[in-house]
Amino acid sequence: MLPDFLDSVVQLITRTSTDLPPDVRAAMGMAVRNEPAETRAGQALAIIAQNIDEANSCEGPICQDTGMPTFEVKVPLGANQIWLRSQIREAVAEATRRGKLRPNSVDSITGENSGNNLGPGTPIIHFDQWEAPDIEIKLILKGGGCENTNAQYSLPADLDHLGRADRTLDGVRKCILHAVWKAQGKGCSPGAVGVCVGGDRTSGYLHAKEQLFRTLDDTNPDPRLAEIEATVMSAANKLAVGPMGFSGNTSLIGCKIGALNRLPASFFVSIAYDCWAFRRLGIKVDARSGAITEWLYREGTKPSAPMLSPDAVSAGFARTGREVALRAPITDEQIRSLKVGDVVLISGPMFTGRDAVHAHLMKHDPPVDLRGGVLYHCGPVVAKDSSTSGGWVVTAAGPTTSIREEPYQAEILKRYGVRAVVGKGGMGAKTLAGLKESGAVYLNAIGGAAQFYARCIDRVTGVSLMQFGTPEAMWHLEVRDFPAIVTMDSHGNSLHKDVEEESGAILETLR
Ligand code: SF4
Repeated sequence: MLPDFLDSVVQLITRTSTDLPPDVRAAMGMAVRNEPAETRAGQALAIIAQNIDEANSCEGPICQDTGMPTFEVKVPLGANQIWLRSQIREAVAEATRRGKLRPNSVDSITGENSGNNLGPGTPIIHFDQWEAPDIEIKLILKGGGCENTNAQYSLPADLDHLGRADRTLDGVRKCILHAVWKAQGKGCSPGAVGVCVGGDRTSGYLHAKEQLFRTLDDTNPDPRLAEIEATVMSAANKLAVGPMGFSGNTSLIGCKIGALNRLPASFFVSIAYDCWAFRRLGIKVDARSGAITEWLYREGTKPSAPMLSPDAVSAGFARTGREVALRAPITDEQIRSLKVGDVVLISGPMFTGRDAVHAHLMKHDPPVDLRGGVLYHCGPVVAKDSSTSGGWVVTAAGPTTSIREEPYQAEILKRYGVRAVVGKGGMGAKTLAGLKESGAVYLNAIGGAAQFYARCIDRVTGVSLMQFGTPEAMWHLEVRDFPAIVTMDSHGNSLHKDVEEESGAILETLR
């Protein structure tokens, strides 16, 4: 059997999780240059650029959500696909052990995390045969925040702000713009979309995701689709959704469209939204040894060019002097003085809590005193570390999508006296009312900036609710100068609501 195959796949996973491909780096570099540095969008992109460089230099995950590993494998005739599949699965488990992938495979009935990214349907591995002599493996890591913003339209349809979308290419254009507008910052914009016109509901989503294996700078060989791609790119970047949904000049870094035949009765437009942390790479391996013969999407093993100069990386978060220092326990007076747009630097204790913790707190008292405290919507990557006092070290810790906690958040603020919720993408009307009633704020951290925020964590002081698995447990952190932006305050103001309305008004003009 192929002695080097396992190691080659581990290398592929490691590099994909930690080093963005050159086409994505180029698109993000353009986004950085297009936003004035002093704006919210500019500050968000500076943190993202720094995070990309830090992940590459320490070989740590770019984002803590390392997503659903999806492999597209082409094999020569006669290759043993059963053995190759088992080796790819073993490589996924090994990369998880090494902290390059977060344990992300959860039993949908019991809620139990398998701990090694293996389970029914995880990872996704598709095989195809080809007549070439070697094996090709392409990998995409697409996280939950952007996966949840995928959309499928059945045409004809009536769309907010855009009116009727017919069964035409113009109807397709409207669907894509609608999906980008609807995603706002929840999928960690600026993102890229893979689109399928036609197919059925399942093949449509699959083909849409396959479009994400194209490079962002290629040209569609079908001139009709190439024209729609160009039109969408120009229109979407007028929407002013902006990085993280903060408003700004770049909302989309790529639009790739494919088409499948459909039934006469159906006309689906399926959209796979990927975030700025667009992790996609590939390798070719020798079919006898399993050794890597070629890297895809990048120039061999040549190191990636940094996004920022070395000085800019070591300078850290660019301060303006107007930042507000916050340290728990936070008082009602401090919270009421904060307004949308303020940048805060949090120091002191912070507790993580996401889906399982929120559901738990609706029925049980918290394991720690949360009064005046800071709750962080985050599922970190953590590793055992006997050299630290807590015995754990956080290796990646960006925010997760907050809107999932909308059904619980206002009640948790009220019951337990939490003063600040940190997450990304914003929350809805119920939470906004809860912030006002209980005296609390919502703070938007920069989605995907997992290495940047891991460096703001001085130490792990404890952990509760480990029965939910490491991403869902409540981690007790001690942080220092953790930057975030007030996007929902205790006076009823929400930047997310404002940007959604303003970009909706722009969408009207693109009918
Ligand atoms: S960058 Fe955002 S959307 Fe993408 S995987 Fe990370 S948290 Fe999810």
